[in-house]
Amino acid sequence: MSEKTIFSKIIRREIPADIVYEDDNCLAFRDIQPQAPTHILIIPKEVVAGVQHATPDHGPLLGHLLLKASQIAAEQGLAAAGYRLVINAGDDGGQTVAHLHVHLLGGRPMQWPPG
Ligand code: AMP
Repeated sequence: MSEKTIFSKIIRREIPADIVYEDDNCLAFRDIQPQAPTHILIIPKEVVAGVQHATPDHGPLLGHLLLKASQIAAEQGLAAAGYRLVINAGDDGGQTVAHLHVHLLGGRPMQWPPG
């Protein structure tokens, strides 16, 4: 497993995080710089540097992340009003941490197009 990113350190409990969900395959915790009243990151425990690095073998894991994001959104009371899931990929996508993560944003109306 890569030791490189801050998210690996969160998985290993080397730095603190406000964890809202965990299972054998993923971890979800609150973003340290929230961009909405609810801003949670859902990450795989397996290190995948980004969705752009995913292979067909990662299909079940990617599906798991989205289903858990939906479950967590419902648990956070966001299902009725709606919410947004975002995956930033690479420099132009605004990705700053090289460990695949799904942003769950909710609690306010979202704008489109995103900046
Ligand atoms: P991205 O720009 O898509 O790579 O998103 C990375 C996200 O990780 C940003 O929204 C950061 O605020 C968030 N982040 C960085 N460090 C931490 C941390 N220690 N705990 C929680 N969220 C973090």
